[in-house]
Amino acid sequence: MNSTTSGNDSKLLDILDENILICDGAMGTELTSRGFSGYPESANLEQGGIEKVIDIHLSYLEAGSNIIQTNTFGANNEKLKSYSLDSRIVDINKNAVSAVRQAIKKHESEKGSHGPHFVAGDIGPLGKLLEPSGTLKYTQAVDAFLKQAEVLVESGVDLLLIETIMDINEALAAVEAARRASKDIPLACTLSFGENGITLMGNKAEDAVKTLLDSGCDIIGANCSIGSDTMLEIVRKMREADPGAKLIFQPNAGLPVLKDGKTVFNETPKIMAYNIKKYLEYRPSIIGACCGSTPAHISSIVDAVSSK
Ligand SMILES: [Zn+2]
Repeated sequence: MNSTTSGNDSKLLDILDENILICDGAMGTELTSRGFSGYPESANLEQGGIEKVIDIHLSYLEAGSNIIQTNTFGANNEKLKSYSLDSRIVDINKNAVSAVRQAIKKHESEKGSHGPHFVAGDIGPLGKLLEPSGTLKYTQAVDAFLKQAEVLVESGVDLLLIETIMDINEALAAVEAARRASKDIPLACTLSFGENGITLMGNKAEDAVKTLLDSGCDIIGANCSIGSDTMLEIVRKMREADPGAKLIFQPNAGLPVLKDGKTVFNETPKIMAYNIKKYLEYRPSIIGACCGSTPAHISSIVDAVSSK
């Protein structure tokens, strides 16, 4: 374990027993706005890219994020293969963890902040459908997740965060891989639901809670796809399904809409914070934001949560 952070894995779950921690917001759009145009995870392989990634982490830390996600959403073997980057999987994941550590160290020393701050090893979907809807076998999915999970754990992340999964079987494959990589690392998993509260593959929020907790997750919840207003219903359903579970929610800044040929998200920081304040009665453990969110959104969420 790297000693530059004020957090460590066992401490994270203890803190969540009593407190809400704030995660960060979108990475991809922030990279684009800083002029990076390649495959987002390839930024981890070049000095100029890494500097942008660290800068983004710093802006989320300054906004008040306690948990920073590594720039590794698409850094699994299946996705990297499509970009001929699979031979670089170790460097991509390792450098991403190091970028968050560097940002936390800089933030803590320059701002005198003690957080707590944690590094979340981000694991996104494989980008391929599992059998029977697709051709990818469950065991292949586990193998693809395992390589990434192992590198993230070896690089010293404080937790693993599996996110934006639309098929409960893919989530289970990722959880199995994460648990093989480490039996005791805090493990979070969030599914993506549509406006009807069901994933693309037909999984319901209330059913997913038990399945994921039984599979070995410590923290479960939802991210992406829908805005913070629509996600409130998922928050309610998940809390009703388990009164004691540690829950994490990271909605988008509204539904994506096409404007002048560009994808935009219409939820302002103020609207998002207003909606997220309503989550608090359902006792979430971690709140962050997904696509379309910025450090300004996180800053407003921090204010909303701390003024409850
Ligand atoms: Zn998203």
